[in-house]
Amino acid sequence: MPEPVPFLDLAAQQARLGSGLRERLDRVLTHCRFVMGPEIEELEERLARYGGARHAIGVSSGTDALLAVLMAEDVGPGMAVFLPAFTYTATAEVVLLLGATPVFVDVDARTFQISLPSLEQRLADVRRAGRLEPKAIIGVDLFGQPAPWDELNGLASREGLFLIADCAQSFGASYRGRRLGHEARATTLSFFPSKPLGCYGDGGAILTDDDDRAALYRSLRSHGEGRQRYEVRRIGLNARLDSLQAAVLLAKMDVFDDELKRREAVARAYDAGLPSLVRPPARVPDSRSAWAVYCVTLPSRALRDSLRDCLSGANVATAIYYPKPLHEQPAYQARHDGVALPVAETVGGQVLALPIHADLSDEAVGRVLAVIDQWAEEQGDTQQ
Ligand SMILES: *Cc1c(COP(=O)(O)O)cnc(C)c1O
Repeated sequence: MPEPVPFLDLAAQQARLGSGLRERLDRVLTHCRFVMGPEIEELEERLARYGGARHAIGVSSGTDALLAVLMAEDVGPGMAVFLPAFTYTATAEVVLLLGATPVFVDVDARTFQISLPSLEQRLADVRRAGRLEPKAIIGVDLFGQPAPWDELNGLASREGLFLIADCAQSFGASYRGRRLGHEARATTLSFFPSKPLGCYGDGGAILTDDDDRAALYRSLRSHGEGRQRYEVRRIGLNARLDSLQAAVLLAKMDVFDDELKRREAVARAYDAGLPSLVRPPARVPDSRSAWAVYCVTLPSRALRDSLRDCLSGANVATAIYYPKPLHEQPAYQARHDGVALPVAETVGGQVLALPIHADLSDEAVGRVLAVIDQWAEEQGDTQQ
């Protein structure tokens, strides 16, 4: 069996981080302020500066970041929140946790980002039906590439909707020359270990330019606390980021830009080396991806599954994001209005994510490409 090509290699990254990481962790073990220690403020300042936002608020996960942002807008029963059907479940889950209704929107056939025509259509449908109050849009930077933020902002302000940027996969990416982090009224980040900037457990953050909302998010993450300790101003969450995770993130931020460059180099090598049967990810124009996921598209489900088996046989790890759009998942099916979302309903059968991370060697990339090339040649042979 050839050497495995792992999908993600956190051990290699840890070795590369070396003593910087251990020193950061040791400092926490020494001061013992495990909750709201000094690392939190240091990280928040750094995240805000990096994302170009006035405020960053560390929270316990990307999911809790979304939840707190929706809670701050009093999202609840009778309200519609628009979001792409082709995303991770967390984006929609939080809407239902608050008793509101997720309205699933189709995605663009090339970029897989939220489709603006579909969004306008879904909004018109909801307004016409008159049962739900349109309240917010959650845009998602799928796979690390930016959603069409300028257009989403235009639409949101025209329609009086609160725009949220789910940047769980895209922190570090840029859009029209701007680093992602302040495209929407609130931006949510996830530091789940497999995200481009990941900690060693669960973690997340909210970025915003709005002073009042920043204060509200800080209160919500800590049981709705007021200015005084044990003053309970509102119903909140236990959703703080802990000091050990912040320490990990601070160590990783020192190498984050280099890692993004390496991911970009891997993506370019894949782009250049893939045979014509395997379509590389479409780039969102005028942007740079964080390459959370490098997702190729095959002409059919049969070919996708065949390539996946072939790579697996060669000890190359792959993944499918996402096998099914949310509105076809058992948990959401009954909550969907039955409208067809043709792109979201098809792409899950055709996509395949290849390994991409900062510790992937040129040799490993070459091997992945060689396996794919060989496979494509065999497909050509059988088609003739
Ligand atoms: C990972 C992810 C989340 C949730 O983040 P957690 O930190 O795992 O809670 C939300 N949205 C998207 C698009 C994600 O990829």
